[in-house]
Amino acid sequence: MRCGCSRTTRQRVAVRATTVFRRLIGVSDLYVLGVYFAEDGLVLAVRPRWRRPRCGACGRQGPQEDRARQRRWRHLGLGATRVWLAYQPRRVKCRKCGGIRVEQVPWAEHGSRFTKPFEELVAYLAVATDKTKVTRLMGVSWSTVGAIIERIVARRLDPGRLDGLERIGVDEFGYRRRYRFLTTVVDHDRRRVVWAAKGHGTATLKAFFDDLGKERCAGIKAVTIDMSGGYIRAIEDCLPGARIIFDRFHVQRLASDAMDAVRREQLRDLRGTPAGKDLFRSRFVLLKNPWDLSRPDQAKLNELQRTNARLYRGYLLKETLAQALDYRQPWRAKKALEEWLAWASRSRLEPFVRAARTIRRHFDGVLAYVDDRLTNGRTEGFNNRLRMIARRAFGFHSAGALISMLYLACGGIELHPPLPGPLQT
Ligand SMILES: [Zn+2]
Repeated sequence: MRCGCSRTTRQRVAVRATTVFRRLIGVSDLYVLGVYFAEDGLVLAVRPRWRRPRCGACGRQGPQEDRARQRRWRHLGLGATRVWLAYQPRRVKCRKCGGIRVEQVPWAEHGSRFTKPFEELVAYLAVATDKTKVTRLMGVSWSTVGAIIERIVARRLDPGRLDGLERIGVDEFGYRRRYRFLTTVVDHDRRRVVWAAKGHGTATLKAFFDDLGKERCAGIKAVTIDMSGGYIRAIEDCLPGARIIFDRFHVQRLASDAMDAVRREQLRDLRGTPAGKDLFRSRFVLLKNPWDLSRPDQAKLNELQRTNARLYRGYLLKETLAQALDYRQPWRAKKALEEWLAWASRSRLEPFVRAARTIRRHFDGVLAYVDDRLTNGRTEGFNNRLRMIARRAFGFHSAGALISMLYLACGGIELHPPLPGPLQT
């Protein structure tokens, strides 16, 4: 017996299948012509909705020359099934670019093998989660993730980010086992990374000031820097009117590093003994803020006070420096800092003696922090985020990908991953 539906209903059902896929893709301006299974997944044959081809480089309409080879673009998968868009792009004679170019397609960026929603989701996940999860979820390699991020950043980074800078922070990152460096510049007021480049020290920072130009340099009022970076000279040369501030984040890190050095020294002497093992485990307790200590942490600290006077002295030195920087009146902070320097110099802990020397050398810049309160908890949080992202991006073997990741996560770029919105109730 024949089925009850008429020929027109059957046709309508067939048309609807491609419409369903068109809506599933989530890209406007394209038609789905057919759907079939290939060895490596589901393939949707598509074409742009516009008739006249547009130049892939500049977007301008032009006459069609011929067709390029058939291409496939990787799209978001349906569950475990990979999905591809297939199309044979036209080649356009472009008057503006002068030459023959492959046409623009609405679903992908020029030169990319992935669709826009796919790239957007990869970038979103790269910021939100770790390397293993991104690569497994999306089925791409980490270097592909790097290339996708570079493309998105090139497209989205705010070109006006260097305008109107007033208070900036300069920081350096050692990456790839600390023999390669990256310099980053953050805008404290808008809390974002505005510039990053390979290298460190005077020359690198001067390259930033060159990018900025004289007029914009003159607008900068304050710069926070790392004491070790060798940035001071570049600032004095190019920004004579700016105030140099050593932010609290870096000053305190000097003390934490000194305490860690004391601990490591002792660890070397006690290697293999039970006391050494205890000491090994004490690191996180010592580095924690006192208000974050749990009861067992506190007990461990008390134990340390009884058994290890040197290390406990280091701990107190670290905490006291933080307190000195807590004062809001400059004269109080100055007094506390001077007392701290005297104590640290007499502490007979060599790493602290060295740290005290560094702080004394930059005394005014350290105190400037108290005046300005530039680096409050919020910028410190931002710094920590920057470091976390940088650590994740160290896996990229090119500095370009690493820099793009910093821009993507901390440069004020808004992503639009294809995620379902909240349920409407
Ligand atoms: Zn063109």
